[in-house]
Amino acid sequence: MNYNKKTVKDVEVAGKKVLLRCDFNVPMAKDGSGVITDDKRIRAALPTIQYLLAEGAAVIACSHMGKPKGEVKPELSLKPVAARLSELLGQEVIMAADVVGEDAMAKAAALKAGQVLLLENTRFEKGETKNDPELAKAMASMAEVYVSDAFGAVHRAHASTAGVADYLPAVSGFLIQKELDFIGGALANPKRPLVAILGGSKVSSKIGVINNLLEIADTVIIGGGMAYTFSAAQGGKIGNSLFEADWQDYANEMVAKAAAKGVKLLLPVDTVCGDKFGPDANTLTVEAGQIPDGWEGMDIGPKTVELYCAAVKDAGTVIWNGPMGVFEFPAFAAGTEAVAEALSKTDAITIIGGGDSAAAVQQLGYADKMTHISTGGGASLEFMEGKELPGVACLLDK
Ligand code: ADP
Ligand code: MG
Repeated sequence: MNYNKKTVKDVEVAGKKVLLRCDFNVPMAKDGSGVITDDKRIRAALPTIQYLLAEGAAVIACSHMGKPKGEVKPELSLKPVAARLSELLGQEVIMAADVVGEDAMAKAAALKAGQVLLLENTRFEKGETKNDPELAKAMASMAEVYVSDAFGAVHRAHASTAGVADYLPAVSGFLIQKELDFIGGALANPKRPLVAILGGSKVSSKIGVINNLLEIADTVIIGGGMAYTFSAAQGGKIGNSLFEADWQDYANEMVAKAAAKGVKLLLPVDTVCGDKFGPDANTLTVEAGQIPDGWEGMDIGPKTVELYCAAVKDAGTVIWNGPMGVFEFPAFAAGTEAVAEALSKTDAITIIGGGDSAAAVQQLGYADKMTHISTGGGASLEFMEGKELPGVACLLDK
């Protein structure tokens, strides 16, 4: 995939109406009060919006929220987002009552340079997730330029993330540009050695990532719950650890692939186990592959930490996806924390992808020490799998 895409700086937007796809899929309080519990994604959209306004564009913002499945669900209205965006921008954000209905069309038509309109939840329209060309055409008819800045949604070919690009000149906003520069740069032309640290819960959810990174990395490090399927496949005893019997052959294939390609593949040499899956579990540290019955592996052990941190030290680029253990429980967070600390100290370019990985780095307090933390969980995974992202592929090449 070509990651070199035109950005908002490569097109003339002065005096034009710009349809801006944002990722305003923010977490809301469960009580239906309309309170946004984390506005990070709204704040992340500000640089592109402010740039467009300063350049003299009129901004027609749109986003999905949740999964209303083509029906109007008042609890998934973007109204609270309009209110918060308005506070952050320090100017009125006009809220449309629909996506491409009479109200949206009238408000878009009347919109002036420097003003912001927010359309309703794009998934209130049945055609959104089907990438219906009629819906895409209707959305495109409101504007003259399309700017995509919803990295969290670029792995989906929906009307507002990809379809509209058939009808308007399409470029990236600053958020997507940053993701393409860092993740795309690390995949296509990394500063070497490239070290990939892969963890998380299951092998089955990371097959594509392991496979693709074995193609391009110099070292691949395996941690987290998926390490136990690798261990079991090699005849290790894994007790009650996370285990996917059907993926043992795949694990062995990956080990063989690494050897054939000359990629250094590191697996845990020791494990911190718990006697149950809970924050108050008793702990026991054992050699890898020697987990006693009744215990489960929940973190990498201290010798593994040393091994993995040493590999990071001289890296040119580190891509990290997937926590090393059940970091949500403090007794099993040491491995993930040590890796985060090692990344914070290396001179390497450090890139964090994956929703839980980003949360772990944030929670442990290392967020501002990383070169780039991806804002898209699923999208960053598909990016690292080497898949074509429809919301990126549809943008104009530079
Ligand atoms: P990401 O969202 O960054 O791609 P994943 O979703 O693959 O990461 O995995 C994150 C989850 O994996 C965390 O909730 C963590 O508790 C869990 N995990 C890590 N190690 C283990 C383990 N040894 N046993 C069970 N769960 C684990
Ligand atoms: Mg996850």
